Amino acid sequence: MRTVYVNGTFLPEDQAQISIFDRAVLFADAVYEVTAVVGGKLLDFDGHMARLRRSLKELDMVERFSDQELLKIHRSLIEKNTLQEGLVYLQVTRGVADRDFDFSRLDADPGLILFTQAKDLINNPLAERGQCITLVEDLRWARSDIKTVQLLYSSLVKSRASEAGADDVWLHRDGKVTEGSSNNAYIVTDNNEIITRELSRDILHGITRQAVLNVARLHQMKVVERAFTIEELRSAKEAFSTSASGFVNPVVRVDDQEIGTGQPGIVTKLLRANYIAASLRTAI
Ligand code: PMP
Repeated sequence: MRTVYVNGTFLPEDQAQISIFDRAVLFADAVYEVTAVVGGKLLDFDGHMARLRRSLKELDMVERFSDQELLKIHRSLIEKNTLQEGLVYLQVTRGVADRDFDFSRLDADPGLILFTQAKDLINNPLAERGQCITLVEDLRWARSDIKTVQLLYSSLVKSRASEAGADDVWLHRDGKVTEGSSNNAYIVTDNNEIITRELSRDILHGITRQAVLNVARLHQMKVVERAFTIEELRSAKEAFSTSASGFVNPVVRVDDQEIGTGQPGIVTKLLRANYIAASLRTAI
């Protein structure tokens, strides 16, 4: 059984509890981060903590925990669960209060929840065989740049896609791809240009995205940050997604159409290998 962390205490997962009045339950009033662990070490930890602070700020939530405190809790949890490879989830809730839309006079302590998931990240079958995705209209709220736990639309469309045999969903708005259900989306053109949507309120500012684009530029690859159309995706040489849990994963089919050769592409494979090497070098 896992050890989890809830509001100052480490305890077995079946003993962990939160209030029914926690605003996370009543209003999805909580933000989160997911950090990968390989060889017992955290990848891109500073980036994830920086984005956590940004999410808190955008939602007028108070910051009660320092990066050092949060790092200590992450490390204790990795140790207590002897986690070699997998993910650490962290959720900050606005806290417990009687139900009221208005939180302006709220004086609650924020809730802090962390738990681990053991998972093979390096040896991911999707990286070998490539993902089959379907396209769905992006009907999420207009602040997808804030990492809130309100993930219902993505969860709904991913479940339906999964039932229909697909691995994931890419979302689109006005004929252009925004991002994947839980990852950022890219194409590679015939000129080997890597294209991914620019940062805005429309997408989550992926920490893996930032690291992978750095790796690409370091290898003299051309990166263009702009929205690409569904037609561009269909005629792309390669397509791939990035996330902390998936790293870099090829897309080989969109609905009923193959992308490129229908096999994971060379640029994608190179980026995956180099991203993993670079992030392991800086893991803490
Ligand atoms: N977009 C969405 C909607 C996501 O949920 C995620 C994963 N949390 C990402 C992009 C990728 O972000 P990161 O690389 O920081 O995991």
